[in-house]
Formats: sequence, structure tokens, C-alpha cells
Amino acid sequence: MENISRRGLLMGGLAAAAGLVDAAGQPISPGNGHGNGTPSLKHAKGDKNAWDVIVVGAGAAGIGAARRLTDQNPDLRVVIVEARDRIGGRMHTDRTSMGIPVERGCELVHGGPYASTYPWIEQAGFDMRMFQSNYIRQADAPTSSPSSQWHQWDSPTSWLFPLGLPDALIPYDPAGQNLPLPAALPGEMADAYLLRLGVTAANTPTGLNYELTDDSEPLYDTAAARVAAPLRDCIRYTLHPEQAPEPEILDPNDSRYDDGDYKIIGGYDQLLRFIAGDVPVMLRTVVQEVGYTANGVELLTSKGTMFGRRVVFAVPAGVMQRRDIAFSPGLPAAKWAAFDAFEYHDIFKCVLEFKEKVFTPNGTDNWGYAESMDHFPTTLWNASIAYPGYKGQAIVGWETGAAARELHALPLEQKYQAVLEVVRKSAGDPGLQYHKAVMTDWANEPYSWGPYGSGGSSRDMAATVGGVLYWAGMRTSTVSASYSSGVAQADQLLLAL
Ligand SMILES: Cc1cc2nc3c(=O)[nH]c(=O)nc-3n(C[C@H](O)[C@H](O)[C@H](O)COP(=O)(O)OP(=O)(O)OC[C@H]3O[C@@H](n4cnc5c(N)ncnc54)[C@H](O)[C@@H]3O)c2cc1C
Repeated sequence: MENISRRGLLMGGLAAAAGLVDAAGQPISPGNGHGNGTPSLKHAKGDKNAWDVIVVGAGAAGIGAARRLTDQNPDLRVVIVEARDRIGGRMHTDRTSMGIPVERGCELVHGGPYASTYPWIEQAGFDMRMFQSNYIRQADAPTSSPSSQWHQWDSPTSWLFPLGLPDALIPYDPAGQNLPLPAALPGEMADAYLLRLGVTAANTPTGLNYELTDDSEPLYDTAAARVAAPLRDCIRYTLHPEQAPEPEILDPNDSRYDDGDYKIIGGYDQLLRFIAGDVPVMLRTVVQEVGYTANGVELLTSKGTMFGRRVVFAVPAGVMQRRDIAFSPGLPAAKWAAFDAFEYHDIFKCVLEFKEKVFTPNGTDNWGYAESMDHFPTTLWNASIAYPGYKGQAIVGWETGAAARELHALPLEQKYQAVLEVVRKSAGDPGLQYHKAVMTDWANEPYSWGPYGSGGSSRDMAATVGGVLYWAGMRTSTVSASYSSGVAQADQLLLAL
């Protein structure tokens, strides 16, 4: 096969009504049962490299699509081809590095019982736990200030100004004189705006800081226009504590908390393995080139050529953006424009394992998040909740935005040290040492090229091409969203078959 242009082979094959070549280079005659060169279900059943539907990518989107197709039509021949030697994609449970399974990629079931994947979690009977006790503190506030101590999110302490309410803010009390807060200047950032009002970084209420920076950029990269509303709440509740809302007691079954975060104990990967069931998956099979006509699709892979009546692409937008897969004929300009407009976010995630339970902000190991608002990474979370026999502690260090970029610029060992420093400060023990550390640099991982992101028209990304190429996942940024998009594409494909 080396002497043949792979693209020529692809197009020649399709032009001759799909003269397929198998992994050993032997031609396969697809036949069709109708004498018109149209690949058919009947043909697919007899031919080991010909399928009704080939799904490219064994992540949440691809597995969601493949499972839906086989559930809705058990007669369909469906296969998933996957470049890596494992399923899951950006869901990667590491079962060997530490004493318990830890997640190098996605970890949380956002929304728990309200997630689209929940029916599977329930059916499988997985142990899913909510992060119920979440803590925050302004670590550089004076120790005399309650804000410097770990306190629950939304507790009355989170509204307080660690150094006291600046006098200049009193006229803006919504329950008092109620002057409108000064408008943000063009291009002004949150930290500059707060300083203009006399609120220094060390005197920023933890609740305000958290609300403005959650899953976003630090204050110096946050638009000042977002500050006024939560700042007024802080002024009001500091001056009138009796008006402050009751702190939330998170209840896993209360639909008001459908944005709660949950973990599948024992590893997230159990979920995709369960959903995939007995759908065949070809691992270590990289799709490189695609030729298509209205009759079907020919895939040139690292293991030979395959033929499908339809193909569902469930690879990340970053893979498409890099042109890792070539298409003949080329894809519509609008689709490429959508992929090119997509941007990955900056995400830093690292897991440290300690030999014992080193950080217990509420005196027990049952804490979820711990946010210390003064140093990076800002967020720690507990990766070892609900492992009763486990003596150690696995702690995630998490950062986003500009601060994540700064952390990623460090050599690997310094990345671990940065997280260790935060754990040391959080636990109040400067001598702590970690036992093991792992992280994946998703931006440099082939077959991902980034963690998750946004941008680019999802409609153009998902638009079917030539009646035979379908598109799932791509720019979806959660497991549930990827899974749902796979199901939606499968439903669309089934209608068109
Ligand atoms: C660090 C991190 C933390 C995250 N945290 C969360 C979280 O807590 N909760 C949450 O819901 N989401 C989280 N996410 C996002 C979530 O992981 C993804 O949105 C989701 O897993 C994407 O699924 P997918 O199927 O769309 O893509 P992927 O999982 O990337 O699957 C695509 C598959 O295509 C394969 N592939 C690529 N190119 C080819 C090719 N040429 N040939 C064959 N196969 C190919 C890949 O190997 C991969 O298996 C996180 C992501 C990261 C990186």
C-alpha cells in the first residue's frame, strides 16, 4: 500500500462504487444486492470492513451515538473506531498511578440527577456523591477576620469585607441612602473598579470574589461591569446581617440545586463502559482520510480502509481545526469556518496524592471544594471522598483562564509544587509533602489538542454533509452535552436511513 497515494486510493475506490481494501490490502467487493452500486444493509452484513454506521471517536459523544443507534435498530451494523488504546477520550480515569482511581480529565457529573447521563448512572447503580460541604476563605486577610478562616460558601461570613466595610461604600447601601454605584469606565477591569471604590484585593469579600471569578478569569481579567450587583449585596448584608439569605444546605435531590457537582465513586470511566455495552470498538485505529459520495463513506485509517453507509464524526473541534482528518470532496466552507472559530479554554488540573488525610477543613474528610482566594491554583477539590478503606488523600488543584496559562508555563515539577504550596497553606502545614502527582497536558494531547472550549457555530459544526457525514460532540464542553449531542445525531441519522 505504501506506493499508492492514499487519497487517490480513497477517491478511486469510491468512484468505482466502493472497491474496498482491508487492513491487509486485499480488495473487498462490497456488492449491494441491487446492482446499482449503492451499499446496502444486506451487503454490510456479509462484509467485515463494511458497516451501516461507523462512529469515529469513543468519547461520550461517540458512545452516546453508537449506543442509541444499536438500541433503536439492533439490526444495524455499528462500530466505533478510536485512535487511542482506550475508550473515553477526555474522560480518562487513571487506575494505576495512585491508591484510588483518579480523573485526569473530566471528573464531575454537573447537575447529578438532572444530567442527561443520569438514567445510565441510575440503571448501573453507580455510587454518585454530591460535593455538599464546600469551603472558601480569603487566605491573606488578617487572622482576626472571620474571612481568613475556612467557611462554607454562602455563609454570612462570605458577604463580609475582611478588613471591614470601607466608609466610602456606606452611601451605596441598597437599604440606606441607595446611591447608584459609579458606572464602570470603558475597558475597566473588576480589580481596578473595586480599588477605585476603596476595596483592595485583601478586602474583597470571599463571596464576591468567588461569584466574579468562578470558572472564569481572575479579577484583573473580569469586566468591571459585573461587579456592581454582587457588591451591593455585600454592602447590604454587611450592614444589615438580618437581611442576608440563609446559607444553602445542599440537598442532592432538590431540583433547585441542579447545578450541583457530583462524583461517580470508583471512576467516571465506568459510565462510558456501561453505556457502550457490547457495541464493538476498534481501538488504536486513527481515521486519517475520508472519501464520500451520496452512496457511502470510505475511511482510510491507520489499520486499513473501512466502508460505512453513514459515518458519525465524534472527535473534538480541535482535531478538525488542525486538519488531522482530510476530506474528499472538501467540507463546506461554513463548517471549516465554525471549526476555525472554536477556541479551547485554558484549564489547569493536577492531582496530588498524600499518604494520609492532610487537609480536613471541617474536621472530617467530607469536603468538596476549598477555594482560597489569594493564590494559584485557587481551587482545590477532594478527589477521595467516599473511599472508606483508603488512608490517603487525593486532592485536585484546578485553575482557569490567565492564571491557568501562567501555571502551564511552569516546568512539570514546579506545577506540582504550586499545587502543593496551596495545600500546605490550606492545611496550615508548611512541611507537607505529596506522595504522588499526575496531570495531563490536554493542550498537547494528540486526538484532543485541548481541554474544552467555546466559539464557532454549533449549527454549522453539526450540519450533515452530503447526506452521509454526521457530526456529534465537537465543541460540547461537558460529558452530558457530548452524550446528548451523540444521541441527537443518532436520532437524525435513523430518520434519514
Ligand atoms: C481537565 C478536564 C476537566 C474536565 N472536567 C469536566 C467535568 O468535571 N465535567 C464534565 O462534564 N466535563 C468535563 N470536561 C469536559 C469533558 O471531558 C468533555 O466535554 C467530554 O468528555 C468530551 O466528550 P467528546 O466525546 O465530545 O470528546 P472526546 O472525549 O475528546 O472524544 C473524542 C474521541 O475521538 C477520538 N479521536 C480523535 N481523533 C481521532 C481520529 N482521527 N481517529 C479516531 N479517533 C479519534 C479521541 O481519541 C477521543 O477518544 C473536562 C475536560 C477536561 C480536559
